[in-house]
Amino acid sequence: MTTAAATPVVKSVLNESRQIERAAELIRMGARMQVLESETTLSYERLIRLYKEIAGKSPSKGQLPFSTDWFLTWQENIHSSLFLNIYEYLSKGASLDPVDVLTKAYRLYAEQVESAEIEALLSFTRAWRLVKFVDAQMLSMTKCSQCGGNFVTEPYENARHFVCGLCNPPARAGKSKSSGALMLH
Ligand SMILES: [Zn+2]
Repeated sequence: MTTAAATPVVKSVLNESRQIERAAELIRMGARMQVLESETTLSYERLIRLYKEIAGKSPSKGQLPFSTDWFLTWQENIHSSLFLNIYEYLSKGASLDPVDVLTKAYRLYAEQVESAEIEALLSFTRAWRLVKFVDAQMLSMTKCSQCGGNFVTEPYENARHFVCGLCNPPARAGKSKSSGALMLH
């Protein structure tokens, strides 16, 4: 076989092994099947097998909720905003692959909440979902008019009057006794 003829074969083998590596990393981060199907070119059957092999169980069935509401409720919004700030910061930097930005940003988010002894409310799959919502302009980030921080909001939020959930928490916020919840005092 000549080199010219071998090149496409070598390329496709390399590409395939990269796809497997990527799927494996996503599975280890807790990604659900929808994420794997969207972010790799591997077949569904292949992904199922990989998932079982790496996670040691079958992937959970069912669709992800198709709603932006979760990201806009108080405590969830603060987690989502923290993650998205990291994600946007990393996106501006080196020319990383979008999936690599996602996994890096998620690791940093998880480290931050862990060091603050707060439960990581945002799962990896949710984080992926959030980025998709922002890409689709169904969610956006708005600067808080009081603290200047950027928070996940509806795309048409009025920036002049927007006050974030930390500057203006709901009345019951921070009173939760459950461990790992956000406390304001
Ligand atoms: Zn604020």
